[in-house]
Amino acid sequence: MSTRIITIPTADHGDVQVAEPDWCTADHSWEPYRVDITHTGAKTHLVIPTDCHGPVRTLPVGFLWRPFDPVQNKIMAAIEADEWHDFDSAGLIRAADALVEHATTLRVYARQLAVLQNKGGAAQ
Ligand SMILES: [Zn+2]
Repeated sequence: MSTRIITIPTADHGDVQVAEPDWCTADHSWEPYRVDITHTGAKTHLVIPTDCHGPVRTLPVGFLWRPFDPVQNKIMAAIEADEWHDFDSAGLIRAADALVEHATTLRVYARQLAVLQNKGGAAQ
């Protein structure tokens, strides 16, 4: 865990000082309320080759931490899901192969998350 402290201006609590994790790549200049402060890390996407849209980047996974969230105040991994794509049989097999590869990535994130949470990425 980084010891770097940053100051984030908020509408409801003025300038808020918060520890900035080493893995955070977020732009904190737009968070209007203290509870909105969210540390986010780099994302890794599943890339599925499709006939309709070419390579589609989907299911991004990355770490996030909302240090002032009253309910979930610890480092988590987040996955985003979005739209539909069509596949023929060969395309579906390529998608399945990509999913298997992405599952390996998710397991790496899970191990890293366990380490980060054990380092004290919870309460301020
Ligand atoms: Zn941050």
